[in-house]
Amino acid sequence: MFVDIAKIHLKAGKGGDGAVSFHREKYVAAGGPDGGDGGRGGNIVFRADSNLSTLADFRYKRKYSAEAGQNGGASRCTGKSAQDLVISVPVGTLVKDAETGRIIADISDDEPVVIAKGGNGGWGNQHFATATRQVPRFAKSGNPGEEIDVTLELKLLADVGLIGFPNVGKSTLVSVVSEAKPKIANYHFTTLTPVLGVVRMGEGSSFVMADIPGLIEGAGEGVGLGHEFLRHVERCRMLVHVIDISGSEGRDPIDDFDKINHELKVFSPELSERPQIVVGNKCDLTDEEEVARISEYFESKGYKFFPVMAAIAEGTDELINYVAAELQKLPPIKIYEAEPKPLEDFTAPKKRDFTIRVCDGIYFVENCEWILDIMNRVDPDDYESLQYFERVLRQSGIIDALEDKGIAAGDTVSVYDIEFEFVP
Ligand code: GDP
Ligand code: MG
Repeated sequence: MFVDIAKIHLKAGKGGDGAVSFHREKYVAAGGPDGGDGGRGGNIVFRADSNLSTLADFRYKRKYSAEAGQNGGASRCTGKSAQDLVISVPVGTLVKDAETGRIIADISDDEPVVIAKGGNGGWGNQHFATATRQVPRFAKSGNPGEEIDVTLELKLLADVGLIGFPNVGKSTLVSVVSEAKPKIANYHFTTLTPVLGVVRMGEGSSFVMADIPGLIEGAGEGVGLGHEFLRHVERCRMLVHVIDISGSEGRDPIDDFDKINHELKVFSPELSERPQIVVGNKCDLTDEEEVARISEYFESKGYKFFPVMAAIAEGTDELINYVAAELQKLPPIKIYEAEPKPLEDFTAPKKRDFTIRVCDGIYFVENCEWILDIMNRVDPDDYESLQYFERVLRQSGIIDALEDKGIAAGDTVSVYDIEFEFVP
């Protein structure tokens, strides 16, 4: 079965913990702290694989987690960082935040993309020695890895999308102009999975045509087969609308054309504005006057019209030459931009847990994984960004809690891998 949408859970690796250790040597009374840092947790990375054509693998395995980083050791030994977990997906897979629908990445080229970041390793106690604190008996735990539910949505990359009712000859057309061999038969919905055909124009130029299953009335509203396949023409630069000019199945071709365009509009107004040309197929089953009448009708509506007999490749050269020339003028295939995470996320009424531990005069703010995401986005060199962070600390009650614990100006606050001086 063709699967082009899936929802999976990702958990990147936790960072390794920092170590508490002191240098030991014979005859040396009090060695300094030498606890090493934890290693970084593994990222979860997505990569496009052109050998894949469906998201079927994700129906069976839905949970993915990367390994944790190793803990630090004595003698300044840094723990090993974990390997990234690389997940292969078909070219053209959109990765979205399942909760908000935000686009995280469009996996459409060879560039691997980190979707869930592994946690940084915690610092060992070697970093915490100061003039006044020579024997730090603490180290930092590693940060947790990012955890997120994502939806994967396959939107094929094709220059040209074929649309039309079932049985009008779309698959036949693709089979005669490209090397693709989609199933062709005289019954509805022979094509159940989209097929991409590469149309070679000589001299190294080519374009990709997508044959998708036929659309039926009501498809745009989710009735029956069809609407889910429109996803695959969303990126297309141009639509080729195939009609059965002979009305061999008892329908009127102009009526068919209007119905499909209605479905298209319901599904996506943007898509319905895409450049569209009309191919009148099965000219062998009707007479010249009828071909002329329908041709004039579409030309008068401003559509370029091509009468063809796909089954014997009659008229198809003119068609693909025209398409290739038009494509030269059109913008490239649509690639979706990643959408930034809105900072306003913070104001959502969510549980903002944390605990405070005081150790060696340092105020450790802990057990607040929610803040990591915010910290990752705070730019320490940007005043507004820092102010935002301060607001977060205040609104979540962290500042009040620190004051309850007796913090004074100039004391050190430590939140995961950042430390700062307290300013009341
Ligand atoms: P699709 O459902 O739109 O992909 O249609 P197909 O390509 O599977 O074709 C449906 C039927 O129409 C098949 O039996 C084809 O052989 C037939 N067909 C395709 N092109 C022509 C043509 O130019 N003339 C005639 N008479 N039949 C055709
Ligand atoms: Mg077909």
